[in-house]
Amino acid sequence: MNKIYTEKWTKDCSFSIEYTEHIHHEETPFQVIDFYKSNTYGTFFTLDGLMMVTEKDEFSYHDMITHVSMAVNPNIKKVLIIGGGDGGTAREVSRYKSVELIDMVEIDERVVRLSQKYLPKTASKLESDKRINLYFEDGLKFVNDKEDNYYDLILVDSTDPIGPGEGLFSTQFYLDCHRVLTDEGILINQHESPYFEQYRKEMKRAHSKIKNTFEIAEVYQFHQPTYPSGHWLFGFASKKYHPILDHKPLIWEQFNLKTKYYNSDLHKACFMLPSYVKEELDKDE
Ligand code: SAM
Repeated sequence: MNKIYTEKWTKDCSFSIEYTEHIHHEETPFQVIDFYKSNTYGTFFTLDGLMMVTEKDEFSYHDMITHVSMAVNPNIKKVLIIGGGDGGTAREVSRYKSVELIDMVEIDERVVRLSQKYLPKTASKLESDKRINLYFEDGLKFVNDKEDNYYDLILVDSTDPIGPGEGLFSTQFYLDCHRVLTDEGILINQHESPYFEQYRKEMKRAHSKIKNTFEIAEVYQFHQPTYPSGHWLFGFASKKYHPILDHKPLIWEQFNLKTKYYNSDLHKACFMLPSYVKEELDKDE
């Protein structure tokens, strides 16, 4: 009889996956890491019991965190990834031969090592692409110590604002990101969800801080079945570029990348948010 993994999305609503094998359990100084095997979602892993990445639906998240910004500024050369321990974001960024540097700052080395072992497809580029530099430290401190005007793109692929991820949703962090980005700089951040109260609060808190820090601050949506409600968001913040007015589909299509979720039509559509979401984002938290 297979056992059940369950994540409580709210106090009275849960999400469950029947798993065939609990392949790894480990407590690190930062979090509890569990890897499972399942029929429907393939291999997946959780941090502190919360779903992070599954083989079946990681493509939507890693497409959408990466390609939107690249289709707005195709000249992005220096990229910083914060978090992203599973390697999926780094894998998608590394598909751009035009990118010269990918610094990835992941606080917990064990997430990387276990992803390389159990999720080789997402972690495939971490050691094979010489442009990728791995730093096992706190992203908050890394950005605080970085010189001004350095990166063209920062991708915050973090956990929720609890535990080690909390600081990555702070005003100080966003101010530092603004400082270390070039004048063409773009920040993409994991922006929680509008659906359930707890995540909606975090979404609004993050958005209030970002729109008070960056000249342009927009939000886009995508479908992520294994995250609470399946309705998930990324933030797009920039000093100069508007994600739709400055969208360059023809240039992006010359990269000739086959993407399973992202495409040039979706690029515009994903910023068209439901009325209730727009209203919530307009209210300051
Ligand atoms: N895609 C997943 C999601 O949206 O929930 C998360 C990707 S990845 C598993 C999240 C990573 O953020 C974890 O590996 C965690 O260790 C890392 N992380 C959390 N806080 C961090 C911090 N302050 N600095 C660097 N990495 C951090």
